[in-house]
Amino acid sequence: MDIPRIYNVTESAHRIHNPFTPEKFATLGAVLRLESGTRVLDLGSGSGEMLCTWARDYGITGVGIDMSQLFSKQAELRAEELGVAGSVEFIHGDAAGFVADEKCGVAACVGATWIGGGVAGTIELLTKSLCTNGIILIGEPYWRQLPPTEAVAKECFANSVSDFLMLPDLVASFDELGYDVVEMVLADQEGWDRYEAAKWLTMRQWLEANPDDDFAKEIRAELTIAPKRHVTYVREFLGWGVFALMAR
Ligand code: SAH
Repeated sequence: MDIPRIYNVTESAHRIHNPFTPEKFATLGAVLRLESGTRVLDLGSGSGEMLCTWARDYGITGVGIDMSQLFSKQAELRAEELGVAGSVEFIHGDAAGFVADEKCGVAACVGATWIGGGVAGTIELLTKSLCTNGIILIGEPYWRQLPPTEAVAKECFANSVSDFLMLPDLVASFDELGYDVVEMVLADQEGWDRYEAAKWLTMRQWLEANPDDDFAKEIRAELTIAPKRHVTYVREFLGWGVFALMAR
């Protein structure tokens, strides 16, 4: 079981697989006023940076599930590196339908809401693992500017303009689902640069090391277009943020 190979190549050197910087994750942990010992569930935990740094900085414990074999391994190594391997556990697997055996104070899905079939379904799934009055974290893209055409939306990791909302509509959608938005931390363009631009050097170095790989043509094509696509579209049109929710 694994995710499409392209991500395991382009994001192999990423610690954070979304437009958040380490500072943004630290801010998020701080504004949530996490108490030591809080249990955190993370669906689509990637390379585990959120759980590992929060375990180190705020004393949380937690479990992360991710479908990438590579990222799950990197998460375990990161936990050892930060001395928190006893506090956080990483499971390699499909997080669809995953319910924690012990209820959590925070249940998160940060940039992978397809796991629950969209934002509403993911909130419903996370709720099954959540303590009464626990906090749900949803990391989700939104439009900073509405793409003028469907073609522009497709350049921004969307299949269609309707895949994402403008920020006021995204916030309103949480309200309509019966949740208070109790905090939010938004990514910025620098964060998008860190997420996207970090892929380019990784791709270039991978190409140098794997010139005869079957995948080289695809990676070559991606590296050729990625920087221009990023500065023309993603950087300008796409926003991203993590929203902290509590059921009303
Ligand atoms: N939350 C992480 C990773 C976000 S990227 C971070 O902030 O760094 C999305 C992640 O979802 C990737 O790590 C990918 O491997 C994982 N993923 C995709 N589909 C999944 C599924 N069905 N179950 C579990 N993880 C999945």
